[in-house]
Amino acid sequence: MPLPIGIATIISNATSPFPLRVIPRDQHTLSRKDISANALRVLYRLREAGFGAYLVGGAVRDLLVGGRPKDFDVATDATPEQVRQLFRNCRLIGRRFRLAHVVFGREIIEVATFRANSDDGSGDREMENGMLVRDNVYGTIEDDAVRRDFTCNALYYAIEDFSVRDYVGGFDDVLARRMKLIGDPEQRYREDPVRMLRAVRLAAKLDFDIEPATAAPIPRLAGLLDEAAPARLFEEVLKLFLSGHGVASFEGLERHGLLPALFPESAAALKSNRSGALRRFVIEGVRSTDARVANDEPVSPAFLFAVLLWPAFCRTLIALQRQGVAPEEAQRRAADRVTLHQLNTVALPRRFSLPMQEIWLLQARFASRQRKRVFRTLAHPRFRAAFDFLVLRQTASSDHAADVAFWQEMQGEMGAGQEDDVLLEGGGEEAAPRRRRRRRRSSTAAGE
Ligand code: ATP
Ligand code: MG
Repeated sequence: MPLPIGIATIISNATSPFPLRVIPRDQHTLSRKDISANALRVLYRLREAGFGAYLVGGAVRDLLVGGRPKDFDVATDATPEQVRQLFRNCRLIGRRFRLAHVVFGREIIEVATFRANSDDGSGDREMENGMLVRDNVYGTIEDDAVRRDFTCNALYYAIEDFSVRDYVGGFDDVLARRMKLIGDPEQRYREDPVRMLRAVRLAAKLDFDIEPATAAPIPRLAGLLDEAAPARLFEEVLKLFLSGHGVASFEGLERHGLLPALFPESAAALKSNRSGALRRFVIEGVRSTDARVANDEPVSPAFLFAVLLWPAFCRTLIALQRQGVAPEEAQRRAADRVTLHQLNTVALPRRFSLPMQEIWLLQARFASRQRKRVFRTLAHPRFRAAFDFLVLRQTASSDHAADVAFWQEMQGEMGAGQEDDVLLEGGGEEAAPRRRRRRRRSSTAAGE
């Protein structure tokens, strides 16, 4: 049913407390030229086959505020099977949510069938401890809108008339740059505690405010994140800190009492650090990561976690040394202990925790100026990342100026002839291009 263009149309509906508001093309700024060609292909194809086809979620929100979406999601009344029949390049994925992925080389357009929030027993839905573990209950577009998290994420751009359909008041919230949960905030956080992190992350990314009723329950409910899957929290932490808005994310987590839920030991260490040096260090580390993202430089989860968990490491190290554990042993134990404890909340994979620990352990080696040790340190595959880390520590406290100067000079002295011995790699497993590591002729580097 094509809707008239030119006037905002109000149509009442059963499930949403808001009447449908249709914002016609001439009253919004979302333009087809900013939508990926592949997403448009999918939308038109669905439409030609007689299905409803909408761009939805983050992409609509980002385009309305003039941003560049990182992906384009499509919602439709076609079932996943029907979607698959329309596209050769389509695969069905997901257990908790069954989705269709239409694959165009490196771009994937996610096509989701409208889903309902309330269960009448007819669909495929499972709850565990009040949390959703599976929900494949198909519904209407209104159902699909109200089960989303924030009003700004529940806007639909209709390919049939280029209008924006708003079932939850999200259009005005986007214009007012406001994050607002759909429905009762406490209930929505209990259903899925990760929404608390999403509130902070999206507010940081979009420079939105979290409206008072949405923000209020967060500090009180932050502990619910204990029940969230650590692997999901790892993904969320990467999005919080590796998307270019890390400082705003960190400050948001602090302000809303979420830091202890993600990084309990670092949060405790930051709280008891009166001088504020540890906090300055973390902020500097996150800021430098933001700068790298802004410059399209590679960023590494290992380095990020080395920064975020450094307060915990320092605190544990001091405690062990007070107990009389010898320095080198204390370092190793502190690194292991912090890593192990952190896994209870955020599942940091070993391919990142190992280089993270190496970055920490190399910090102590920077104090040694013995010639043989200096060469070993310079030859360490994590030298470059560890040195960058030392520079950060110096920015935050100025205690390490002499070390920074020394190691800078040493790198210069190694010069072109020996440069191959030093692996100039940012510590990033995935992002940084790997350079071949040439074996040293002497045996000193072996086993490092
Ligand atoms: P980003 O810019 O990070 O991609 P996004 O809003 O697109 O932000 P996605 O994780 O890609 O985030 O989710 C796509 C859409 O799915 C959201 O816009 C929202 O409508 C819905 N959604 C995502 N996570 C949840 C959740 N935990 N609860 C309810 N709805 C959600
Ligand atoms: Mg998205």
